[in-house]
Amino acid sequence: MKGPDAVRTVPSLDLIDRVAAADIGAIARMITRAEAGQNECRPALAEIYKRTGRAHIVGITGVPGSGKSTLMGKLTSSIRETGRKVAVVAIDPSSPFSGGAILGDRIRMSELAGDKGIFIRSMATRGALGGLARASLDAVDVLDAAGFDVILIETVGVGQDEVDIVQAAHTTVVVSAPGLGDDIQAIKAGILEIADIHVVSKCDRPDANRTITDLKGMMTLGLSLSGATNWPVPVIATSALKLEGVSELLQSIDQHWAFLETSGELDKQKKRIAERRMLKTAEEILRDKFQEHRDGKVSTLVEQMITHETNPYAAAKDLLAEIRMEK
Ligand code: GDP
Repeated sequence: MKGPDAVRTVPSLDLIDRVAAADIGAIARMITRAEAGQNECRPALAEIYKRTGRAHIVGITGVPGSGKSTLMGKLTSSIRETGRKVAVVAIDPSSPFSGGAILGDRIRMSELAGDKGIFIRSMATRGALGGLARASLDAVDVLDAAGFDVILIETVGVGQDEVDIVQAAHTTVVVSAPGLGDDIQAIKAGILEIADIHVVSKCDRPDANRTITDLKGMMTLGLSLSGATNWPVPVIATSALKLEGVSELLQSIDQHWAFLETSGELDKQKKRIAERRMLKTAEEILRDKFQEHRDGKVSTLVEQMITHETNPYAAAKDLLAEIRMEK
């Protein structure tokens, strides 16, 4: 530890214990520190990681305006009604008119209710240092260690970061809404095939049937199984407005978890998630190191590439060797 600042940023063992005891203040503080991406946090997060692995992590994605936030609110209540503890990590609710505002309301609601079984957190770190995916998954770890039974990750289904995040979930729900253009939005966003469950939201609207039919049609064209598993991907129509389909969605989410557990797929999936997470973290470390060396080794190697003294492959290996020596 170097000086008073370091003392303040190093999370104490006490804080980790309080996270494990589901102390809401401690959870929020730990997530804030993880979000800031401070290296001082790593030992605490390593401790926390040891205590993870219990929660069912559910990713919910769909284009902006598809009704995710509204649906998440209803789903969160439905899960809570079953007695389970539920946490929501909402990624980039940047629009003040949709996610952001609704999220704010939900936070106030849950605070008013004083229900310690619900925790909602938004990660508005786009563009911030340290990586949105890493910060969000660290937050999920904190909530898992804190004993939340279900952790919902809500992401806008565009961009690599979001796809990375949602692929760290055990169950992925893709939301499409009627009236957002003729095509199934999941196709446009390239996320059709990552769905374990498809939701057509706003089914109170007359044009919802067409979206449902289109999606079901697509399912019969060989996209009905998620990944390499034997799980038949359902298409569920929901209306957050009329409170329809929400319990079916929860039932389906629970069935998917049961399927993963009983089929042995859960172990395979945990392996896939761990692999992907390690690779992504390695990429992030490399990117950080690249920045660190920008004015030094990187700049030297770039000059050498321009004069053809070296080539991209050799330069990359040189840089990796330099980074390795620092360890
Ligand atoms: P998000 O951007 O995907 O999170 O979408 P929102 O949850 O913010 O919803 C986008 C818009 O759709 C809002 O104007 C909502 O009021 C509306 N909306 C959400 N759910 C429903 C629903 O079940 N039925 C109808 N008709 N509108 C809905």
